[in-house]
Amino acid sequence: MTADHIDLATRWRRHLHQIPGTGFDVGEAADFVARTCTDLGWEVTTGIGGSGVVASLTRGTSSRAIALRADMDGLPIEERTGVAYASKNHGTMHACGHDGHMAMVLGAASALAKDIAFDGTVRLFFQPAEEPGTGAEAMIADGLFDRFPTDEVYGLHNIPGLPAGEIHTRPGSLMAAEDNFEIRITGRGGHASAPQHVIDPMVIGAEIVLSLQTIVARSIDPLDSVVVSCTELITDGARNAIPDQVVIRGDARTFTDADSALVETRIREITEGAALAHRASSEVVYTRVFRPTINDADCVAHAAAAARRAVGADRVDASCRPITASEDFAAYARAVPACFAFLGAGEITEGGTAPLHSRDFDFNDAILGAGIGFYTSLATARLPEGNRS
Ligand SMILES: [Zn+2]
Ligand SMILES: [Zn+2]
Repeated sequence: MTADHIDLATRWRRHLHQIPGTGFDVGEAADFVARTCTDLGWEVTTGIGGSGVVASLTRGTSSRAIALRADMDGLPIEERTGVAYASKNHGTMHACGHDGHMAMVLGAASALAKDIAFDGTVRLFFQPAEEPGTGAEAMIADGLFDRFPTDEVYGLHNIPGLPAGEIHTRPGSLMAAEDNFEIRITGRGGHASAPQHVIDPMVIGAEIVLSLQTIVARSIDPLDSVVVSCTELITDGARNAIPDQVVIRGDARTFTDADSALVETRIREITEGAALAHRASSEVVYTRVFRPTINDADCVAHAAAAARRAVGADRVDASCRPITASEDFAAYARAVPACFAFLGAGEITEGGTAPLHSRDFDFNDAILGAGIGFYTSLATARLPEGNRS
């Protein structure tokens, strides 16, 4: 890894930091990565799944292809970092480090175009709308893997709180699914002083909130991790009137499709049962916002080997603990073998590295080299020269 690519990536990262967008509205970043890749000699296609960008570079004769993925969106947060290259787009900032993710992939694009030999095709997936969890699916629905056949996909997320430059991943479930639910209990409201004339959805709702906690305690395998949280309780009543309706909203995190399905089934059964017992009616809407990020075991082995070459064996953990946050990378991993990994951004300190999604967060440029080294090492190992397939 020459210092030139890291210097370029640092400049690109700081430029990207100044032009954040949110969701699918990431035109400035998409234009920049498309232009940069074109200038580096990559073949670029824009407008995939709205504002997604795919760049491809083919060397030699192999038909194999791997993809390196970066997310492009920032967050609707007012920046407070005080850095000279702070966001120019008021009320929007790169508080999750996706500017750094783009810069690492662009740094790899520079190294692969100029200095590194491989046989096959490297693709770069620059996706919008990671934060809402809809960008990867939009690109896939727009024919991503039909138009750009790809054997394996790899991606990194910077993680404050992990030592800088360490790379952690694991086979199987790495990050949780996020499911949302909305339960509507319809009773019959009336005067708060005359319960004999009403069907009180408030009491039923309270019973449901408590009963939902038995899903984890009594229905889920105790060796699996699941979270069921009720986060909102809304009524149409007044202080002295029993409401007609109660709405309970909540969020469930699971690490497998089976547990997600079980949580949905139990929420429906508990809700219907409680409503029936108290002569009310009920409705449940259950939505899957993020699917679990499930790494392919072979891809994890390749990623771990690339990480060891890039940052040293003592800075790689290939069987780390999963985390309950969610990641849109899951959508690629459902379509093709893939591995997502965490890149340590350094300890969280007062005045130093801030947590993700904080107004004070700024990507740690000191880890750009580790990410670029990881990606280029993956490309040379997965698309080796003189090894046709
Ligand atoms: Zn984020
Ligand atoms: Zn993120």
